[in-house]
Amino acid sequence: MKPSRAGVARSKPKLGQHFLKDASVAARIVEALGELSASTILEIGPGRGALTSLLVKKARRIIAVEADRVLAAQLRMHFSLQPNVEILEGDIRAMDFSTLFGPKPGSSRPGIEQTPQQVRVIGNLPYYITADILLRLFEYRKYFDVIVIMVQEEVADRLVARPGSRDYGLLSATAQLYARLEKVSSVPPGAFSPPPKVYSAIVRLVLAPRLEQLGVAEADFMRFLKLAFQQKRKTLWNNLKSRYPSRELTRAMQRANVKPTVRAEALSLEQSAGLFRALIDSAPQGV
Ligand code: SAM
Repeated sequence: MKPSRAGVARSKPKLGQHFLKDASVAARIVEALGELSASTILEIGPGRGALTSLLVKKARRIIAVEADRVLAAQLRMHFSLQPNVEILEGDIRAMDFSTLFGPKPGSSRPGIEQTPQQVRVIGNLPYYITADILLRLFEYRKYFDVIVIMVQEEVADRLVARPGSRDYGLLSATAQLYARLEKVSSVPPGAFSPPPKVYSAIVRLVLAPRLEQLGVAEADFMRFLKLAFQQKRKTLWNNLKSRYPSRELTRAMQRANVKPTVRAEALSLEQSAGLFRALIDSAPQGV
């Protein structure tokens, strides 16, 4: 989108507004989403339309959610002749994805379960709410299959980190519980206007939730992970002892073959899930 100078809204740092100016980076992000001709795309924070302008030529339908009222109005005008683009003004964290992507009233037939439409998500994210946005997308994962996002590079490294590495933590464990992740490429500050203070990176997530395979209930296991990672310097034992009695903890760790002295970041998701299940079995009446 190339609005006239007068039409260019000043960037708002509070909304994480660093607009992409490097066309090759924009093309790389869109390319990472794969074949789009039959796809519906959810774009988070379209800004001045650097990604939207590419998507409009490739995707069947684009729903772009922008929090900035002025930008949303400019985008609406710019794409007014494109029937496949819908600009919604609002906070992505408050969007009701079930209403947007779920079955429409009157469209379901008794006894026939509808498969939700699969939506691909793209966004050069406002960095201050990256984790919130990801958690929300995971919550509504039945609607999404592939997510390609630009995030702060440090966050990208945490998202894809392997257990035992310096960067592995709660964010890595959570993301890897719901998706297979890949860092596509690093992006220097000069690709944006205004340039951010940090490097960025493109990350691709293919949703593949592992809750069933690991034999864990979502809310309880998330609570367990939060506790296990609560204080990075503490051992797993010390983080867990506020909730679990010592006897149960000892028994469960023995059963799951986990040493009390390890830290949560050393455990694979399989090992964390094994310990979580052993704790349920060790509790007098479940946990
Ligand atoms: N996609 C554009 C690009 O690549 O040039 C803009 C990216 S800029 C990093 C982030 C965009 O997200 C801004 O346009 C900002 O106004 C918007 N934004 C910030 N917070 C948001 C929120 N909670 N919901 C939706 N959009 C948001």
